[in-house]
Parts: sequence; structure tokens; C-alpha cells
Amino acid sequence: MDNRHKLRNLPKIDELVMRLERLHEVYGKDMVTTSCREIIDEMRSTLLSGGDCDVAPQAVEMAVENKLQAIYAPHLHSVINATGVVLHTNLGRAVLSERAARAAYMAARSYSNLEYDIEKGARGSRYSHIEKLLCRLTGAESAMVVNNNAAAVMLILSTMAKGHEVVCSRGELVEIGGAFRVPEIMAQSGGTLVEVGTTNKTHLSDYVNAVNENTGAFLKVHTSNFKVVGFTEEVSLEDMVRVGHERNIPVIYDLGSGLMCDLSDLGICDEPKVLEAMKTGVDVLSFSGDKLLGGPQAGIIVGKKEYIDRMKKNPLTRAFRVDKMTFAALEETMRSYLGSSCEKDIPTIAMIRRPVEELDLRAKKLKKLLTGINGVTSAVMREKSQVGGGSVPGEFLDTRAVWVEIKDLSAAATEEKLRKEYSIICRVAKDRVVFDVRTLLDGDDKKIAEAIRNISEGK
Ligand SMILES: *Cc1c(COP(=O)(O)O)cnc(C)c1O
Repeated sequence: MDNRHKLRNLPKIDELVMRLERLHEVYGKDMVTTSCREIIDEMRSTLLSGGDCDVAPQAVEMAVENKLQAIYAPHLHSVINATGVVLHTNLGRAVLSERAARAAYMAARSYSNLEYDIEKGARGSRYSHIEKLLCRLTGAESAMVVNNNAAAVMLILSTMAKGHEVVCSRGELVEIGGAFRVPEIMAQSGGTLVEVGTTNKTHLSDYVNAVNENTGAFLKVHTSNFKVVGFTEEVSLEDMVRVGHERNIPVIYDLGSGLMCDLSDLGICDEPKVLEAMKTGVDVLSFSGDKLLGGPQAGIIVGKKEYIDRMKKNPLTRAFRVDKMTFAALEETMRSYLGSSCEKDIPTIAMIRRPVEELDLRAKKLKKLLTGINGVTSAVMREKSQVGGGSVPGEFLDTRAVWVEIKDLSAAATEEKLRKEYSIICRVAKDRVVFDVRTLLDGDDKKIAEAIRNISEGK
């Protein structure tokens, strides 16, 4: 059937733009005009190529409005994390505590003493607010904060290693993700990497034998995202610090995750703890703000004043500097570690610590919400969840999940609908969608049930 006769019913662009005047305030007249032109072009070519479309005035207006909405809707939005991966890097890593988020909001919505010394009535330093707190909490002489831990490592090396040799074990030449690889970062920083040992074994003597008059530092990197098992040996931080200091060589430790509380009762024993690392007398330590610390994206550097003072003067510090919202959120996150409230306050820790009995109740509640929906089968199942975010590799936490099957709809199709139409991210296993309740926030269960109901009813 030839629909070309409809071409003459297509509205004129100017007229369509005028009819959509109510959208000008929201999107601007230019954007509305562009979308009108695009929609009319699309419709024209559809009709010319023998296709069909509704050219009634209302239908055309609707098409333009939908297009504008699709283009200009907020692109970054919240999603429901039903994967059970607590620190999901793709889903934004740590969820902030209520107090940290409030602090960020306050910093955003008012002026602050960010770089103003209230006592002196003069210019201050943005690092002063958090430095004392970080020193008190970690026992360090000095501290500073940059954009993320990758920047922290870059700043440390470019301050301490430029023109010098840095000794690092072959077992610790890690890739964190993206293009963050220890050898490349070293090259960027102007230091010379001296690799010692082998992939599986490095001895203290390897470090000692590598020392010469140009050795600038020993570097230890936590192998955050993988595990080498079997015939292995790594040199402890204590030993590195001891032999380093005997030879006047500073020791740098990229600790990765920034664990500040004890999770060993959950079997999380291989994650280095900030406080224990500091006790070794290590010269400089760095870790992320948004991994196991549970705060905003940041790179935290603590250690000896002489080195950190030099870092503060490095021009990279300006390039890596942190904004006021991050400072505010980080300060509140750290304040949660003062007393015993971190497990309650900080969602990352609370989720990792959620007892199986509580997870079981949550799963049963979700299952109950799903019961009775036409064409839907579901059940509570035992599962394992991962901490994620390049931390705690190879360790799994016992969890509870709910699997769901929708009649006449494959798990892959269900997952796609959940993801695209409801921003619900879940796993698929054995041709069922699986919701791990560990990472669900308050109210997520109701949204999941609602989405499943709609999908099952073909809405
Ligand atoms: C995660 C990680 C980094 C990178 O930290 P970001 O905060 O993501 O930039 C660097 N080193 C180690 C050992 C890590 O685990």
C-alpha cells in the first residue's frame, strides 16, 4: 500500500514549532525546532520508502515530545543493584552514608570555609579540614586527599620516585582497570621501575640485592583484584620497612581498599587494614575513598610529613584536587570511624555485615511481594555474593536471593526489560532472573515486585 499521499499532511516545521510552544520553556526553542525537523524528516523518509506512520497532528507532536524527553532526560540516574556485589564499580561503588550525603548537599548549597581560615580571617587550605582527622584515625603524621587512588599513586611516585629507581615485586605489577597499570604509572611519573622476584615468589633478599645509590623507594602494591595460590611467597610490609629503613629507603604502600574496621569474622582476612599497615612504620600509604572505606571517590594519602609536604607542593596536586562536596562527604565518612557507629552508618560495611538471618527475612519479604502475580513463579534461594570493586577476590559471602520465572518469557528477555525499562540490574542463572537482597536499599523490593508484575502482565 502506498502511503505517499500522507506526505502532504505532514505539518510545516514552523507551524509545528509554534504548536509546541509549551515545550520551549523546558528545552529551548532551538532544541524543539531541531527535534521537529528530525521527526518530520524521519516520517518523510518512512513514507517515501513505502512505510507507514501516523501523521495526525497529535501523533506528530507526541513523537517530537517523546524524542525531546528521550534525549534530555537525566542520563545519570539511580539504579537498583540486585547483583549482591556491594562495591560494583560500574554501578558507582560505595553508597554514601546518610550523614556523608547530607554533608555533600550542604557543601553544595551554601558557601563554606573550604579555603578560608576562620580563626585568622585569611586564606586557608582545603586540606586542613580533613588532615587532622585522618592523622588521628590512622596515626599518621600527615595526610592529604586527591581525586582517587590512581591519582594518589601517581602523585606519590612523581614526588618520590622521579629520576630514581623504585623496587617492586613482579607479583605486584598489577592492572587495576582502565589503563591503570603499575609499570605504566611508573613510566608516567618519571621513576624507573626495578622489578624483582617472580610472579609467584619474591624474597626479602630480592629487594636488598636491588638496592643501589639511585634507589628512591620500595613500593608495595596490594593485589586487590586477584589471588595467587599455591607455591607463593611475598615479603611482608614489616620486613620491607625494616630493610628499607636500615638503608634509608622510604617504603610506599598502595593498599587499595582502605579497610578501617575488622571483617575477619566474615572470612575477609586478606584485605590489608589501614591501621595495621601504619603500625609497620611505612612512610607513605594510599587508598581509595569509595571502596571498603565506604565514602566518596577519593584517594587518601597518609604518612610521614616530609614526603607529604613535598607532595602538597607538586603541581599535580592542583590537577588532582578534590572538590568541596567530596571533602564534606569524606569528612563525615571518616567521622563515622571515630566511635563504633561505622557498621551502622556506612552502607558498604552494613551490607557486607548483613547477617544471613536478616537477608533471609528480606528475601522472604520479596518472595511474598511476588507471590500471587499471574504467571510468575519465584522462590528464595541460597546464594553467594561478592564484595567487588576490585577487593576481596575469591571470597564469597553467604547470602539469600530470590529467583523469578515469568511464564512465556525467557530470563534473558526479562533481564533486558528490567534493565532497560526499570533500571533494575540483576543476574541470570539457570534461565531465571536472580535478585540478591544483600545490596537492595529500602523500598527496592516493592519496585522489583511492581516491575515483575508489569512485565508479566505485558505492560
Ligand atoms: C582500586 C585500586 C587503585 C585505584 O584506585 P581508584 O580509587 O579506583 O583510583 C589503585 N591501586 C590499588 C591497589 C587498588 O586496589
